[in-house]
Amino acid sequence: MISEPFIDYQKLFLEMAEELREMDDIGTIASYIPELRNVDPNKFGIHLTTIDNQNYCLGDSNDKFSIQSISKVLSLALAFELEADKLWDRVGVEPSGTPFNSLVQLEYEKGIPRNPLINAGALVICDVLVSRLKNTKQAFIEFARRVSGNKNIDYCPRVAESEKKTGFKNAALINLMKSFGNIKNDIEVVLDFYFNLCSIEMTCKELAQEFLFLASNGVNPLTNVRVVDASKSKRINAIMQLCGFYDEAGEFSFKVGLPGKSGVGGGILAIHPGKFSIAVWGPKLNSKGNSYKGMRILEFLTTRTQSSIF
Ligand code: GLN
Repeated sequence: MISEPFIDYQKLFLEMAEELREMDDIGTIASYIPELRNVDPNKFGIHLTTIDNQNYCLGDSNDKFSIQSISKVLSLALAFELEADKLWDRVGVEPSGTPFNSLVQLEYEKGIPRNPLINAGALVICDVLVSRLKNTKQAFIEFARRVSGNKNIDYCPRVAESEKKTGFKNAALINLMKSFGNIKNDIEVVLDFYFNLCSIEMTCKELAQEFLFLASNGVNPLTNVRVVDASKSKRINAIMQLCGFYDEAGEFSFKVGLPGKSGVGGGILAIHPGKFSIAVWGPKLNSKGNSYKGMRILEFLTTRTQSSIF
């Protein structure tokens, strides 16, 4: 058996700071949600939390930002816990190979989205949670706070409202799925929950700590809260590995080699099962809608440490 290399995180973070000073900084900030245009494009933060609660950070790691699609992992965790394998009657686990808001496959595949991390799939998950949780928005944010014991986690009503005004693609997706019978609740109610879900704000530190349960067989070691059982935790990581970066999931696997999830706010969450969770944030996105610098620095991290899941 090949032994895992020891990671000196302190040294690694010094090297990452050096790497960042030299790194080119290209890409564009997401503007299709008007409120996201107001973010300083030059921000950049990193926070890594190990499963034994060592913490390492760099840059703007204590600034709140819009986690956008990263929250789809949390809604998936709750819906999977509530529905177990019944969930897979309504949403698949295959990579889409298409942009996050694409409509193309959905008609051919009769309103069953490819996976829960593209917009169509996340809308189905929201529909499940609206059916399951009374006062869905409140119940969901309480769940999010309980996972990491952090009462400061909240929605951003400004971002949710801003997306509601321009979210025509999401409205098209949900209407198409409703026509196939794969949305059970009122469209407006589900969309409202979806836009709020995407508007959740966290710092890199909060994000890394919120999702540490995926590095630790479904239990957050900081709070001892069991979020999902070990098998579901493994499966959520598998879905992130294959679907977390839309039509760039292969590239992320190839270059970084960790399960992860991105959001158009410029955040990326990545998990090294059994070791750590890491959140990076840089608002400038590449052409696939993923943080340019975030992808680059995570590639540096796993290359430098010679440690990925592969
Ligand atoms: N709220 C965004 C949307 O639905 C989320 C997209 C993303 O982060 N990739 O378009």
